[in-house]
Amino acid sequence: MAQLIDGKLISTQIKDELRDEVTALKEQGIIPCLAVIQVGNDPASSVYVNNKKKACAYIGIESLSYELEESVSQEELLELIEKLNKDDKVNGILVQLPLPKHIDENAVIHAISPAKDVDGFHPETVGNMCIGTEGFLPCTPAGVIQLLKRSGIEIAGKECVVVGRSNIVGKPMAMLLLRENGTVTITHSRTQDLKEVTKRADILVVALGKPKFITKDYVKEGAVVIDVGIHRNENNKLCGDVDFDDVVDKVSAITPVPGGVGPMTIAMLMDNCVKSVLHS
Ligand code: NDP
Repeated sequence: MAQLIDGKLISTQIKDELRDEVTALKEQGIIPCLAVIQVGNDPASSVYVNNKKKACAYIGIESLSYELEESVSQEELLELIEKLNKDDKVNGILVQLPLPKHIDENAVIHAISPAKDVDGFHPETVGNMCIGTEGFLPCTPAGVIQLLKRSGIEIAGKECVVVGRSNIVGKPMAMLLLRENGTVTITHSRTQDLKEVTKRADILVVALGKPKFITKDYVKEGAVVIDVGIHRNENNKLCGDVDFDDVVDKVSAITPVPGGVGPMTIAMLMDNCVKSVLHS
């Protein structure tokens, strides 16, 4: 019987620990403050932004909300970021992605001060993560590491395979597994014979963005499978990149979708917000 890795439970434990930390900070007169910028009103982005604000309220982090028109110019957005960079009250800045096509996401990511980069996307933050310097970690990959550690799954020395090499999930995921002393392989759309590679994995992290793509043929008996994917199926139900029902009897542990990696991303954002007090 596979161990179900419960992201909802683990994320609540993390948020409760952070709430205690914030209570202690408040006793010293310090209130962490996150500025959240949303451009336009894409419904999915609004759900994410609201969940982030709710998590802030739960933990005791102050959140400032900036809702900009879809038509806002890049210059205006960059000016707001600059203002928030200089604002001593603001510890963290988050710009909800994706942005409208007329705005260059890279320019926005570069504009956020590395000291307030709670999403962990600025090149300086990424560089620090790669060389192992203390600092912000990208939220989804950091959440995966916490899921593994808090479920008692050893990473050191294990064969770890990551499916996907995006800048926000696959690449930083591989780097964090390496930092934990895993033996790491990254795969992508040009990988030849993907199944042969994924079947080597003791720990398989899947972030390729295709619903139920990973079936039992891709998985070694007894592997740990972490499913980062999120999709809505034809019945409007959430599912992942892994075909859970097909795989579950073959693995030793697996994350469900929903209730696996998803809640961890917000918990780790909150962790970065609490850390941001030390950086800013
Ligand atoms: P991207 O689309 O940016 O990247 C997908 C990656 O998968 C690419 O590197 C691509 O390779 C690779 N890929 C695509 N098809 C194949 C294939 N057939 N075989 C091997 N590799 C393949 O996606 P993201 O990384 O942003 O997201 C991945 C998934 O995770 C999505 O479902 C997304 O919704 C979800 N997600 C969930 C989060 C959470 O909080 N739980 C947070 C972020 C994302 P190549 O580079 O060669 O094109």
